[in-house]
Amino acid sequence: MKRRLLLTIALIALCLTTFILAVNDRRQLATAQDGTPTSTLAPAALRSGYASTACLIQPTKGTARARRQEMLQRRAQLLASGSFPLSRFRQEFNSASLVNDKAMPGTDPVSNGYAPREEIAFVDPTNYGDRYLADVNGNPATLEPIVVLHETVGSASSALNLFRAFHPNDNDQVSYHALIKLDGTVVYLVPPDKRAYGAGNSVFMGTSGAETVKTNAKFPGSVNNFAYHISLETPYDGSNNGYSHSGYTLAQYQALSWLVAKTGVADERITTHKAVDRSRSRIDPRSFSDTTFFSLLNAQPRRAEIAIRCTPPV
Ligand SMILES: [Zn+2]
Repeated sequence: MKRRLLLTIALIALCLTTFILAVNDRRQLATAQDGTPTSTLAPAALRSGYASTACLIQPTKGTARARRQEMLQRRAQLLASGSFPLSRFRQEFNSASLVNDKAMPGTDPVSNGYAPREEIAFVDPTNYGDRYLADVNGNPATLEPIVVLHETVGSASSALNLFRAFHPNDNDQVSYHALIKLDGTVVYLVPPDKRAYGAGNSVFMGTSGAETVKTNAKFPGSVNNFAYHISLETPYDGSNNGYSHSGYTLAQYQALSWLVAKTGVADERITTHKAVDRSRSRIDPRSFSDTTFFSLLNAQPRRAEIAIRCTPPV
C-alpha cells in the first residue's frame, strides 16, 4: 500500500516537471521569435528551425587510452552520419523572416548584391571536437564567442589535405571553421557549434580580463572553446617565415567581411592568432589590413546566421 502511494507521488512529480519544462521551452521560443536574444540560442537559429548540436558537459579526465577510444568511437559515428549540408555551417537567408525582424529592420543581405562562392570540404573528425560547458577542472567555460583570423602560410589545397588526414595524436590535430581562398571562395570546414583546433596555447584579452579555457590537463588553456576560426589563403610570395608578404586579395577581404558579419560577433571580439597566441611563435595573419577589413565589415548587415554556440543539454 505504502509502495503504491510512493509510486503515485513519483508519477505526479514527473508529470509536473515535464509540464514546467515544456512551458519554459515555449517561453524561450517566444522570446527568441520576438527578436530578443536569449542566452543559449541564436534567434535566427530558432526562426529557421535550425538547432545547434548539444555541448559536452566537461572534458573527460580518463586515461589517454580511454580518451583515444572515446575519440575513435565519436569519429566512427560522425563518419557514418555522412557529409554535412550547407545549413550545418550557416543559415540560408530567409527573406520572409526579415519582414518580421524587429531587431534589425531594413537590413537585407540579398539586396546589397554581394555573395561569395561557397564550398564544403571534408575534415577528419579527429581534427575537431565538441564545445564544453565546463573546463577540465569543472569551472564554467561558456564565454562569449570571438572570431580569430589566421592565414594558411602554404596553399589552400595543402591546408585542406592536412585537415583531411586522420590525426589520432593530440599534437597533430588542427583545423579552422572556414578558409577563404585567394579568389574569395569560402570553404566551410568545421560546423560553427563544434570546437575547431585553430589555436594552441592562447588567451583573449577581453574588456573584463583574460579569457581562456583549459580542456586538456596536459596542455595550456586556449580560446578554441569559444572561438570561430577563419583562415585566409596566403599569397604565393608568403610561403615562408618572413614577417610580411604582398597581402590578401580584395575578393578575400570582401568574403571575410561577409562571413564575419554573419557571426554577429562584435568588433571588439574580433581578433587574430597573433594577438591571442601565448607560445610566441604565431604571427598570422601577416600583412593584414584592419582598415580594409573593418570598412567592408561595417558596410555589411550584422546577423547571427552562423550559430557559434552549442546547445546546453537538457
Ligand atoms: Zn593561425
